[in-house]
Amino acid sequence: MTRCDVAILGAGPYGLSAAAHLSTVKGLDVRAFGEPMSFWQSSMPVGMLLRSGWQASHVASPNESLTLDAFKEATYNHFSSPVPLDRFVDYGLWFQRQAVPNLDRRKIVRIESQPKGFGLILEDGETVRAGRVVIAGGISSFAYRPPEFAGLPSSLASHTSEHREFKKFPRKQVLVIGSGQSALESAALLHEAGAEVEIVARAQHIRWLGGLFSRTIHSGFGPKLSQLLYAPTDVGPAGISQIVARPDLVRSFPRPLQDWLRKRSIRPAGARWLVARLQNVPMKLGRSAVSAVPFGERLRVKLDDGSDRTVDHMFLGTGYRVNVTRYEFFSPQLAQSISCFHGYPRLREGFESSVPGLHILGAPAIWSFGPLMQFVVGTHYCSKALLRRIAGKTAGNQIPVAEPLVAEVG
Ligand SMILES: Cc1cc2nc3c(=O)[nH]c(=O)nc-3n(C[C@H](O)[C@H](O)[C@H](O)COP(=O)(O)OP(=O)(O)OC[C@H]3O[C@@H](n4cnc5c(N)ncnc54)[C@H](O)[C@@H]3O)c2cc1C
Repeated sequence: MTRCDVAILGAGPYGLSAAAHLSTVKGLDVRAFGEPMSFWQSSMPVGMLLRSGWQASHVASPNESLTLDAFKEATYNHFSSPVPLDRFVDYGLWFQRQAVPNLDRRKIVRIESQPKGFGLILEDGETVRAGRVVIAGGISSFAYRPPEFAGLPSSLASHTSEHREFKKFPRKQVLVIGSGQSALESAALLHEAGAEVEIVARAQHIRWLGGLFSRTIHSGFGPKLSQLLYAPTDVGPAGISQIVARPDLVRSFPRPLQDWLRKRSIRPAGARWLVARLQNVPMKLGRSAVSAVPFGERLRVKLDDGSDRTVDHMFLGTGYRVNVTRYEFFSPQLAQSISCFHGYPRLREGFESSVPGLHILGAPAIWSFGPLMQFVVGTHYCSKALLRRIAGKTAGNQIPVAEPLVAEVG
């Protein structure tokens, strides 16, 4: 059995950023686990472009030295915004080599609470004891499939996260459900791969990011007004963007206001550069698919207007629903001890859950810290807050050299 002060589960943007920050603390034994950038490599479509802008796509590093610009310069890469997925994955892997070279790529299969810390079991059976555990496990466990489509074979209906590429769909009839970025971008890529695509969405109209209002503010009134209304974090509409960029402020508001800000900031929407790519894709808006049954080798899908269509495949662009108790690596007893609201953990300062020493980062933290935490840009606030809590120091320009406040491992 090996021991460490802090174990980090996950090597996506949040886990890597947390590891990079905590490793700067002298005397703190930090171990990070997971396959780097695996969600971005396995669950996002080839050809995807990042929806977040350049400034909002840097993963936070100590001293902010490992930015997209630094990556471009160090590797002679040439790309700009919107950032292509494969360049972002390369950036994440470069970040890992620079800041977390000792990453342990093994999966953690079980975490349980123990006196004075946690016990972790790795995929090869090795056990590790840690004083604290930081969960940065992402959203892949939370892909949402509406119950009316449960039980359909994956050859006929699948979640958008199950597809990397669309080569097998030329001339196939494909129905895409949803009006968020994943649904719309999948529809565009399918269309470009030669599929006959139709989009069905409950929304009465598609909400495009960067609409006339925001473009007028950005270009028509000069940079001052634009900077006043929109924070560089790039999350949320005019004005609200500046509020949600400050998680400490968001946390000080009454709960109904926090909920409203969250909903207002992360509504289903598509990036503006998808408009032209979808102009020849039919959309049935204000309608829902209510049932789907196999029909020979195809699928018959019924809508709530009574119409039906028979298609080769149905893509569920139905998003993700956070419920941390669905993380398979938590022992049942530990999962039950985490105080949650509708699946979101109640987190206090330093992203610490109701279980002392257990920290949860990324999308599960949006209920406590606001919508920034759903995006890469949230790493800037999150890693500093985590560092403050664990090392008792702020992440400034100097490398903090503090006595760690971690629980002693038993
Ligand atoms: C289609 C799509 C497009 C998106 N586009 C953007 C965008 O443009 N900009 C943006 O900011 N955000 C975007 N997002 C959101 C994005 O997913 C998050 O910003 C980001 O991935 C959060 O990072 P994370 O580290 O929390 O999670 P992830 O990137 O999902 O990383 C989780 C990590 O945990 C590891 N892990 C999981 N379980 C275990 C285990 N048991 N043991 C060890 N390791 C484990 C995984 O291997 C993985 O490395 C997009 C999401 C989707 C679905």
